[in-house]
Amino acid sequence: MNEYRNLIGGRLVAAADGRTLDSVNPATGEVWARVPASGRADAEAAVAAAREAFPKWSALPALGRAHFLREVAGVFAAHAEELARIETTDNGRILRDTLKKDLPGMTHLWQIAAGQVLDAVKGETVILGPGSLGLTRREPYGVALCIIPWNSPISTFSAKAAYALAAGNTVIVKPAEQACASVLRLGELLAGVLPPGVLNIVSGLGEDVGDPLVRHRGVNKISLTGSTQTGQAITRASADHLKPLTFELGGKSPNIVFPDADLDAAAQGVTVNSIYTGNAGQVCVAGSRILIHRSVWDEMIERITSIAARVRLADPLDMATTMGPIVSEGQYERVTSYLDIAEKEGAELVFGGQTGADVVPSMPDGYWVAPTLFATSDNALRVCQEEIFGPVAVAIPFDTDDEALAVSNDSSYGLAAGVWTRDLGRAHRFVRDLQSGTVWVNTFRQMPPGLPFGGVKDSGYGHDAVLEYTREKAAIIQT
Ligand code: NAD
Repeated sequence: MNEYRNLIGGRLVAAADGRTLDSVNPATGEVWARVPASGRADAEAAVAAAREAFPKWSALPALGRAHFLREVAGVFAAHAEELARIETTDNGRILRDTLKKDLPGMTHLWQIAAGQVLDAVKGETVILGPGSLGLTRREPYGVALCIIPWNSPISTFSAKAAYALAAGNTVIVKPAEQACASVLRLGELLAGVLPPGVLNIVSGLGEDVGDPLVRHRGVNKISLTGSTQTGQAITRASADHLKPLTFELGGKSPNIVFPDADLDAAAQGVTVNSIYTGNAGQVCVAGSRILIHRSVWDEMIERITSIAARVRLADPLDMATTMGPIVSEGQYERVTSYLDIAEKEGAELVFGGQTGADVVPSMPDGYWVAPTLFATSDNALRVCQEEIFGPVAVAIPFDTDDEALAVSNDSSYGLAAGVWTRDLGRAHRFVRDLQSGTVWVNTFRQMPPGLPFGGVKDSGYGHDAVLEYTREKAAIIQT
């Protein structure tokens, strides 16, 4: 049994009242780790530590902070295998992804953040008139609270903490209760790398420790990746102090396949690159609605079916596995409930629908859901409107560009969209007209550092790397 602790003020500590939560390996159903079930007292301690560390950290020259961030990148590189294995054991995301994509990608991201420290201290100069100079300066907020979900903890941790620290904030990370072991292990590794209190990590339930942190007057900025409902709860809870918020929330992203597309590339893009992924479609940008032009419907369904049949569900620690389990029993029940909902609503099952031991008999207690595709012409169905967060997609036929656009935008979400076409004019029109934070053309799920990543409508708002964690001050100097 692995026991993890919080990182508060540079020390590794249990929850103040000693309570723990069990962390379950979703491939086996076994409890493999215990993590602190933190509460209000731990939230208070983390805020106090972060506040104490802020003056010194924010006063460091930007390049001094860059030095620390590069040290953190070194820790990611040196412990890549260990961290990848912990995350895969904890949340079921396949080792092929955690080891080969996430850890190298995040090592890189910490280096990029180190290279962006100067952006956080750049301001503008405005000559207002003779003897009158206007200027702006960027300042960190103070204590930044980063609340993250369970589907890619190391990546989400990095995408927030690296930029918040680069900008001169001190940070409190609240990882998700379902899978936080990799982030807590990072806390152990970084305790001796960053000055005490600069980075604090407290695990526990959203309502027990997340909510007191959100409400705390000593927290100056909040960044959440999570569900729309949690974003709404945090907006309400933080309203008294008017805290600046960044939200990366859910989605119901369309992938639109036109008849002029490279259909082989599109089939790959709308399946294994999008929804039948290493972490079983538990991806915020999952292309869960596949819009297919009626003239290529049969060809596309055939291609999609054959790719899905080759997806290999098995032990996520095995490098040959291409799809892992659903993260927890609760999520498993949620995802499987949509299989019933789809059937009751009259959606046609094209393939899949198998669950549990029927999918991976050698690991009968794992939370397995086979790649599943429904078909319907009715975008109003719940399976077309609600985020399922599993390997369950819906195929929807269309006849005209206008119809494809209308169906795509007929969603409360607006996180991402894919367009598969060789027509440049059409590509540009859809980039312009899709209500979406990101539009991919002839590709999917690329999120390179250097481009913003965010959403519209219920998918959230705001994300601009290091600048997200600064505010601007204006000065007018009269001489
Ligand atoms: P969730 O919103 O339930 O939990 C996310 C985090 O918020 C957890 O750490 C949780 O403990 C915390 N939390 C919950 N209630 C809170 C409260 N009242 N106050 C403070 N903190 C609270 O989300 P989830 O089910 O764990 O994750 C899945 C969701 O995350 C999906 O909707 C998915 O689309 C979204 N997601 C979005 C992105 C993105 O970048 N847009 C990326 C990954 C996941």
